[in-house]
Amino acid sequence: MDRSVVYEMATKVLARLLLPVAKVREPREARHRAAQWALGLRFPKESLEGLTPETRRAFEGARTEALWRDGQLIGLTSGYRDAAEQHRLWQELGNRVLRPSESEHVRGMALDVRPTEGARWLERNGDRYSLYSRYDNEPWHFELAQRRPERQPHPGAAPVRRSC
Ligand SMILES: [Zn+2]
Repeated sequence: MDRSVVYEMATKVLARLLLPVAKVREPREARHRAAQWALGLRFPKESLEGLTPETRRAFEGARTEALWRDGQLIGLTSGYRDAAEQHRLWQELGNRVLRPSESEHVRGMALDVRPTEGARWLERNGDRYSLYSRYDNEPWHFELAQRRPERQPHPGAAPVRRSC
């Protein structure tokens, strides 16, 4: 069996096992808390530090629902990046990456998520949490926004407008 399938099953079992502990700690937020604990163990390298409180709340809320309702795990590949890190990426990768002044990652309002199925779940359900994908070439990239941003083929491109 694929290791990621085993990890996925283990994470769901773990979330259930952690639920009674979470109930003691935070009775009204137990499912939320247990989901974050289990996902934190599944994706140990992820960091939610530096996200704005609203972005973090939206992401945690979305993945709690994904886990308990649909059994879908969502991990964070990259969230907040400081300007120096974004500048380094921009220099390394050129115009596939936005400059620090343009990047929502630097503002703590962008999320690169994984795995692919997790990104698909967020694409279908993210609007309830004000999380939207934006770039055709980055299906893993989501941003917190008040309404759905105009789609762009890639970062730095002009928005795609329908001509009439
Ligand atoms: Zn991104």
